[in-house]
Amino acid sequence: MFNRLCIIGVGLIGGSVARAARNNGLSGCIVGFGREQDRQNLEAAKRLGVIDDFFFDIEPALQGTDIVVVAVPVGAVESVFTLLKPYWSNGCIYSDVGSTKSNVISAAERVFGIMPGNLVPAHPIAGAENSGVEASLPDLFLRRRLIITPNDRTDTAALNKLQTFWERMGALVSVMSAEHHDVILAATSHLPHLLAFALVDMLGRQDEQCEIFKYAAGGFRDFTRIASSDPTMWRDICTANKDQIIPLLHQLKSELDKIERMLAENDGRRLFETFSYARNARQRFLDQLEN
Ligand code: NAP
Repeated sequence: MFNRLCIIGVGLIGGSVARAARNNGLSGCIVGFGREQDRQNLEAAKRLGVIDDFFFDIEPALQGTDIVVVAVPVGAVESVFTLLKPYWSNGCIYSDVGSTKSNVISAAERVFGIMPGNLVPAHPIAGAENSGVEASLPDLFLRRRLIITPNDRTDTAALNKLQTFWERMGALVSVMSAEHHDVILAATSHLPHLLAFALVDMLGRQDEQCEIFKYAAGGFRDFTRIASSDPTMWRDICTANKDQIIPLLHQLKSELDKIERMLAENDGRRLFETFSYARNARQRFLDQLEN
């Protein structure tokens, strides 16, 4: 399908794209580009056969490349576009895997003046708390959603080819606007991560005083699993999508106020109704996930 795939940022997601592309025969050659500080990770990627070679200079990394996937934290995407700009090729498809999409488009517009038609933003709804190529998996995207967020400048042939690329890696592709993507992901991914980080930040400080973690059990571990995620990545995501996240934080605060009032007023009936509604809503989500 492609002659040479260049992954910029061969971490969990970039490494998984490389592995899935290789397993599905989607690119003749697969190379990585990274910073000197990422040398160990890139050496591991080569040793594990995830990439054929890696580069610290962008020009040789791009030679003969007909698809580039940018897989760095979303706060670094603009600097990567700046690196790519002098070597931009109309014969190549460029995409990314960033968890926020409006900011990727804004970054491209700042760097290129207008959004290049062959830059097709995308986001796989699959991942893990771990980072780095050693955590990457060839089947990470199998039967997982992948959202492509084109705009009116996007080249249809590039979009179709990127969609086929992801479908051949097993992903279920949806196409929507970047704005719609960011609203949905703020609610279902960004807010839960913020909550997990906030709760563990608060309780971690209490633990330093009075050992509360010693007595925590599975429920606490399940709820806080996502607070093990990479802080750089999540700082970037939360700041990039703050316009969608802040209104949700307001709603959440009023939900907590409501529950506080129920407790203060010993209103067990409304507390039960709230918990029952939440349990049914979660079952609805689980049923959708199953299907
Ligand atoms: P990761 O495992 O930490 O990998 C990121 C890689 O990018 C690292 O190798 C890092 O190396 C490199 N990098 C960072 N800044 C760079 C720069 N300026 N130039 C070149 N390389 C750079 O992170 P990840 O989980 O794969 O996340 C990558 C992207 O996927 C993020 O945009 C994230 O939002 C998105 N995403 C993540 C998940 C998830 O669950 N993890 C799911 C869907 C999408 P150094 O910092 O050592 O240079």
